[in-house]
Formats: sequence, structure tokens, C-alpha cells
Amino acid sequence: MDYLERVLADLKEKDGAQPEFLQAAEEVLQSIRPIFEAHPEYEEQAVLERLIEPERIIQFKVPWRDDQGKMHVNRGWRVQFSSVLGPYKGGLRFHPSVNLGIMKFLAFEQIFKNALTTLPIGGAKGGSDFDPKGKSDPEILRFCQSFMLELEKHIGPDVDVPAGDMGVGAREIGYLYGQYRRIRGASERGVLTGKGLSYGGSLARKEATGYGLIYFALEMMKRSHLDPQGLRAIVSGSGNVAIYAAEKAMQQGMRVIAMSDSKGYIVDEALDLDLIKQIKEKERGALSEYPARAKHGAYYPGSVYDADLAAEVAFPCATQNEIDLSRAKKLVLGGCRLIAEGANMPNTNEAIAYYREQGVLFAPGKASNAGGVATSALEMSQNSMRLSWTFEEVDEKLQDIMKAIHEQCVQAIEQYHLDPKDYVSAANLAGAAKVIEAMVAMGDY
Ligand code: NDP
Repeated sequence: MDYLERVLADLKEKDGAQPEFLQAAEEVLQSIRPIFEAHPEYEEQAVLERLIEPERIIQFKVPWRDDQGKMHVNRGWRVQFSSVLGPYKGGLRFHPSVNLGIMKFLAFEQIFKNALTTLPIGGAKGGSDFDPKGKSDPEILRFCQSFMLELEKHIGPDVDVPAGDMGVGAREIGYLYGQYRRIRGASERGVLTGKGLSYGGSLARKEATGYGLIYFALEMMKRSHLDPQGLRAIVSGSGNVAIYAAEKAMQQGMRVIAMSDSKGYIVDEALDLDLIKQIKEKERGALSEYPARAKHGAYYPGSVYDADLAAEVAFPCATQNEIDLSRAKKLVLGGCRLIAEGANMPNTNEAIAYYREQGVLFAPGKASNAGGVATSALEMSQNSMRLSWTFEEVDEKLQDIMKAIHEQCVQAIEQYHLDPKDYVSAANLAGAAKVIEAMVAMGDY
């Protein structure tokens, strides 16, 4: 057993009950082997052990009352994984599936994603097993206030800067920031990102993850001489990332033929994205309403990846592990030539290995969905400078950042003599190399 395998075996022993974290750690560690082969001294310095151990985990209770006055208690977390490159940065997720293992996997992935953005930010993630679905506005407000009552002690513009993720959008960020301000008695706008425009938010932040995903995919297409015009696309999810990925894909000439939510999916050759925005973004409703209101298209319960659809590209933008090996086979059978992740880890490691085997172009989320956190960092810059850039300025910077991330992947492919389509190893190597270099340079970090 070599150093890397010993560390992985030890991690499995300690964190066996956290399958998502183990999955993410295994994927990253296996692909950064060349760094350790080039630096045998890293074993003595316990570099891998330092990389996989979170600097701090905060768990707290979140008591709140519903509209009937009944008390409920949820769990809240903030995993401050790595501050090597800058203040901790990463979203908050409110979803009943949230647990410590999922928080750790997301925070771990965030470290390398943030490193790839080239911006000075560390990696973190937080959230709660609270389910915002079906809750009234005042209930969401009381929950957010109670959550921030504790979280406030651990964050700050130069310490840790949370943002949104699943279940945490502009409304929740507004309530969380309002409570933070009341407690601190200071503006400190840079403490949260994804804020509304009237109190320090950035234009184009809402669109950034989805748009950035497509900018990244376009770079991959350019490199592989694949013309986006007319390509049929599946976009799973219909939340923040999915909606703006679909919008940009359509603007670039692709044909989005299917989208989904947690209950089912729609297939429509003449997809009406404005109606989807109305149902999902504004009304917080279900996609099942779509065909009757659009007067075209069809709705089916279950996962869009179990359908036999013909599409050349897929953008999974819902949640982790949506696509396992059998669904990956269906995608390839349906003619899929490029898959770029908008969500975090929507493909299992077996699905990714299958794409590699089949020569399918594949972009891992830590590279292709980094546009969201990058624009969050641009929001922090605007807050520090006390000015606001125009939509076009932010969008231009976002395009430059996504191109730079793609370029780093291509450079890593060349530097480490990887398979020309291996963006997974390339993104892990490029991100990890920066974190490790800084960690070692700063001594016993
Ligand atoms: P949202 O909450 O806005 O949307 C999530 C979407 O996924 C909804 O359509 C939801 O359906 C659907 N969904 C949830 N669970 C499942 C499931 N088990 N099966 C199928 N569909 C499901 O979240 P975001 O769009 O913000 O985030 C989506 C993904 O992108 C996450 O993995 C997140 O970590 C990642 N991400 C987000 C960033 C951001 O800036 N927001 C940045 C980088 C990554 P329903 O409406 O029915 O709940």
C-alpha cells in the first residue's frame, strides 16, 4: 500500500459513515497522485492528511416556531475546511437530505473549485436539514434569524463569507443578512454574497453559475471542434443553476429539450423558459403544471435520466449522484457527446469512468460550475471598493474567469501528460497544486 492508499484507507476507517465525503475525497486523491510522485517529501510532511482534515466543523441547534406557535428544532452546520488561500467561502444549503457527510463533501470540493477561480478564497460549506418547501415567508424568516443567531459568531468579511446553494436564494440571503446586521450593528456587506441589488448584491450573480457553465462548455466545444448550433440539450433541475444554464445554452444556439425538478421532468421541443421561470422561480411551484399552462410539451414523473431521450449534450444541474452507471449508459446511447456538471457531483465515479471509456467529453463541477463562486468573489470586491459594476462588466469578467479555468485544465493536461479529454484529473491537479504549494509555504498549516 503506498502513501495515498494508506491515507484513503485510514479515512474510510474514520469517516465510513460519510459516503459522499469519501466519494469526493477518493476522486480527488486518486487524480493528484502525480503531485505526490514528484514530491516524495510530502509524505513526511503529512500533506495529504492536512488536505483532507477540515480546519473546523461547527454544529449547532436551530430552534424556530411555525405559524401555529409549535416549536421545531433543526441542525445547522458550517464546515470551515480550508483557509489556505483566503477567507472561507462557500454556500449554505437548506434541504432535508443535509447531513455532516454532505457538508464535508461540498466543503472539500469547494477548496479546489475556489483555487481554480484564481481568486483568493478558501473553502467552506454550511446549511441545515431544514426543509423550506411549503413553509410560509414568516416561518422562513424566523428560521433564518435563528440560524444566523449562531452562525454570526463564526463568520465575517475577512473570516468566512457564506452564499446561497440549494434552498437558499435571494430571499433567504436577505433574511440572513438582515439578522447579521441587527446583531453586529454594522453594515459589513462583504459578509454574505448573493445579496439583493438594493443592499450590496452584484449584477449577474443570479445568472453566474448557469452562464459560467455554458461558457466553460463552449470552450470545451471550441477545443474539440464541436459546433454548439442546433445541439439538443438535457438540463436537469429547474432551480437557479438550471434555469440560467438553459437560458445561455439557448442564446448560444443549443436546443434545450428537457428540464426536471425533484418530482419529474418535462420534454418539450419548443421549451418555454419564461414559463419555467414563472412556475419555479416566482411561484415556487412544480413542473407538473407546465404542459397545461404551456399548451405543449409533456410531463413525466421520475428522473429525466431514466427517459430514452436523444441529445448530444447534458447539463446536470440538480443535485449530487443523479447519474449512476446505468443512467450514464442511457445518455451515451442517446448520442450524448458532452456532459458538463452544473451541480456538485451529479455523476457517480462509475458514471465518470464510463464517459472516459466511451470518449465522451466530461467537465467536473469544480471547474464548470465555478462561475457562481467566482462572481461571489467579484461581489466581495465590489463591496470592499463600495462600488457596483454593470451587468456587462461582471459578465465579461465571468467569461474571462471561465476561460482561465479552462486554460488551466488544458495546461494541466499537457503538464501531466493526461488523456486530452481528462478534465477531471486536470481540474483536481491544477486546483490541488495551488492549495498544497501555499499550505507548505506557510509552515505547519
Ligand atoms: P435550487 O434549490 O435553486 O434548485 C435545485 C433544483 O434541483 C430544483 O429544481 C430541485 O427540484 C431539483 N432537485 C432537488 N433535489 C433533487 C433530486 N433528488 N432529484 C432531482 N432533482 C432534484 O439549487 P441550485 O440551482 O442553487 O443548485 C443546484 C446544484 O448546483 C447543487 O448541486 C448546488 O450545490 C450546485 N451549485 C449551485 C451554485 C449556485 O450558485 N447556486 C454554485 C455552484 C454549484 P424542486 O424544485 O422540486 O425542489
